[in-house]
Amino acid sequence: MKNNGPAVSVSPEDPDPLGTEAPEEPPSIPSALTQDLLFAAPPARRFSLAGRIPISQRSRQFLREFYPHATETEWASWNWQIRNSITTPEQIQRIIGLTPNELDAIQRCTALPFRITPYYASLMSATDPSQAVRRSVVPVADEYALSPGEAQDPLSEEHHSPVPGLVHRYPDRVLFLTTGFCSTYCRYCTRSRMVGNNCKFRSSITQWQQAIAYIEANPQVRDVLLSGGDPLTMPDSHLDYLLSSIRRIPHVEIVRIGTKVPAVLPQRITPKLMRILKKYQPLFMSIHFTHPDELTPETKAACNLLADSGIPLGSQTVLLKGINDNVDTLKSLFHELLKARVRPYYLYQCDPISGSSHFRTTVEKGIEMIEGLRGHTSGYAIPHYVVDAPGGGGKIPLLPDYFQGRSDGQVILRNYEKKIFRYPEYDAQCPSGV
Ligand code: SF4
Repeated sequence: MKNNGPAVSVSPEDPDPLGTEAPEEPPSIPSALTQDLLFAAPPARRFSLAGRIPISQRSRQFLREFYPHATETEWASWNWQIRNSITTPEQIQRIIGLTPNELDAIQRCTALPFRITPYYASLMSATDPSQAVRRSVVPVADEYALSPGEAQDPLSEEHHSPVPGLVHRYPDRVLFLTTGFCSTYCRYCTRSRMVGNNCKFRSSITQWQQAIAYIEANPQVRDVLLSGGDPLTMPDSHLDYLLSSIRRIPHVEIVRIGTKVPAVLPQRITPKLMRILKKYQPLFMSIHFTHPDELTPETKAACNLLADSGIPLGSQTVLLKGINDNVDTLKSLFHELLKARVRPYYLYQCDPISGSSHFRTTVEKGIEMIEGLRGHTSGYAIPHYVVDAPGGGGKIPLLPDYFQGRSDGQVILRNYEKKIFRYPEYDAQCPSGV
């Protein structure tokens, strides 16, 4: 994509160039968002644990063992977590024993970079390469194998992009790609073509303004989803500017943020961020979760802070082979999410991005997951299982064959126990049902 303006992407070296961790409110009026301000020297930072996400016993032990020179205050800072993210084989090998396959894959990493926050690394098994959290973020050689039907942009997002950084596929809503940066890169990322340091996507003020102008000019757009990359890796002032610019558009009814931050960088959920987000209600958040191991005390605290701020929370989970493709794992994940006040929202069939075959299950497996949940747990714990149609057809929901047909004016249905029931349909034209 063409880059016309000053870059506002978060630099891995300094994710908070404005020093937004400082206690004063960031500017919220557009005139304050000048290039000078964006790139001004950061004010002195003051760190305090007050109001921050707690540090669990597990994190404390990990900190002592692998970052003995860091303080708990530093660990609790999202800036510290990003600055100290793991990006090299040497760094990760201090923490886990890499297999030759993993080592080779990390050394070959060219497209989707390798990056894991120290916090998320603390959830990985040091010895088991098949452990769910480890598999989702540590590359293996399989991601370099291209299978039939795979593509860099399987959802054809770039063909539905009227201006750079904006995807307009459905009539009344748009996807706003805010940044190409994530604090941790998932190896099955649908947008692996555009996230990371080496990608062609770099957001800019000019690009944002083009996208905002497009939304202003299209009154049918009532719903804006901020995604990326991960929008919550942006500094507070950038988020504030973007949200206020979108909120000013009269026909935008709701704003949504898609993020994995509460799972990989819960320290980012600060009181100051909450004050900003609260200003832009109704604002919804879709949080990407993969496995129940992610539901740590830190992540639960982050979700509670968000929920206490009045933000409705939903989850998005990609069905991944050998990681979460069994009913017990998913049920446990969805129950834990509900306890953390996150409503399971979508279970996605994994998109056929290049090098994803080792992650992708069959569609039958996805239907089997819903079959194993529906009727066996509360409806609130059951997300929609969807396939995002390759080529840009949008999300298509799939269900087990509960609808079995019609006969003699009745609908034939089967329940979760595979028992057959008949529902009498009333037709005003033909009340007898004949
Ligand atoms: S957090 Fe989302 S955008 Fe970032 S790497 Fe993971 S799936 Fe991709």
